[in-house]
Amino acid sequence: MREFAGKQQTRANAAVAHSEATIIWFAARMYAYEDIRVVHLEMTSRCNSACPMCARNLQGGAVNPNLPLAELSEADVRAMFPEELVGRLKRMYMCGNYGDAMVARDTLEVFTYFRAANAKMHLRLITNGSGRKPEWWRKLAGVVDVTTFSIDGLADTNHLYRRRTDWDVIMRSVEAYIGAGGSADWDFIVFKHNEHQVETARALAQKLGFKRFTAKRTDRFMSRGKLVNQREVHDRDGSVAYYLEMPVGPEYQNTAVRAVDSMVKEGTQYNDYAGQTDVVCKATGEAKIYVSAEGLVFPCCWVGGIYSSGTKAEAGEMWPLLRTLPEGKHTLSALRRPLREVVEGSFFQSLIPATWVPGSKERKDFTLCARMCGKHDTVRATPLPASS
Ligand code: SF4
Ligand code: SF4
Repeated sequence: MREFAGKQQTRANAAVAHSEATIIWFAARMYAYEDIRVVHLEMTSRCNSACPMCARNLQGGAVNPNLPLAELSEADVRAMFPEELVGRLKRMYMCGNYGDAMVARDTLEVFTYFRAANAKMHLRLITNGSGRKPEWWRKLAGVVDVTTFSIDGLADTNHLYRRRTDWDVIMRSVEAYIGAGGSADWDFIVFKHNEHQVETARALAQKLGFKRFTAKRTDRFMSRGKLVNQREVHDRDGSVAYYLEMPVGPEYQNTAVRAVDSMVKEGTQYNDYAGQTDVVCKATGEAKIYVSAEGLVFPCCWVGGIYSSGTKAEAGEMWPLLRTLPEGKHTLSALRRPLREVVEGSFFQSLIPATWVPGSKERKDFTLCARMCGKHDTVRATPLPASS
């Protein structure tokens, strides 16, 4: 079996970098095309909901004006993922940065294609569940291994985060899917307004036949080392509708976010931390790629989240990096060139890995990898361990 720079190897490189010349860091590479085992697919950038902490909209109000509305068809996916590649995958899941695959036209057909090409791989849909007819959910149950329903509360609270969703529709979807033999997980993001409902929701999950219930400790009350206890929720006209607040119970607060907050309060500048922390690339560890609704390929969804909802389009530290590529962001398009070329090109193999070197200029200009995969790992601290 081919070797790739997996988690252990990346850690080893980190250790070397502290004791020897920085140049050794550039030995850290991503996987090669043949090594890819996990695919995160964003079928569409469209969604029926407007979650206030999701970058597809402006704090729960209008759609992010910088976001291209795009969607992959079954033909697009077949072209990007030939059967020989699908045949060696371990896992494919549909989630995404900006859209919910439930609303995409060809989601069922794409899952069916993957299943036909690889009977053993694990297929998962992650969705708000508030859409489609029961018949669609029954068909889905026969194709995927698991569907994760993201339901952040009960009938009287779920819509405060999953704005514009409908509880009755979600329950119909759940019942149709589970009733047809589908395996379902329930993910519940905990806020102040729903923390008193976690145990009731857990009991309901069991009654409805969910296999697993996970209370999630969101990291989205922190941005670049700054903790805010509440965030505004906007209506479409930009007016403040209400606030989302951090849960009060310490068990529902993200431990890594708390650790960063303490670190900053004790005098370490967040930028100094982000400039120096070791990076353990989660995508490399799993040999995973993320494919956006535009067909752009990135190692992970964090790096692929290029459309900030700010007033300036193409803002953020990723854009200077993308502009160095021959065709800008389109250099990463697996709809324009073979996936192999994208993954084995300079973006994957040198530009991103160069930012993993602590103290380097590349790190100074691009801290996202340090923020998502550094010592204080807010992502890994999100699921509440006891609930899994
Ligand atoms: S359901 Fe998902 S894609 Fe849709 S707004 Fe919420 S977080 Fe974003
Ligand atoms: S953020 Fe960077 S280090 Fe983390 S998984 Fe993505 S590419 Fe790898």
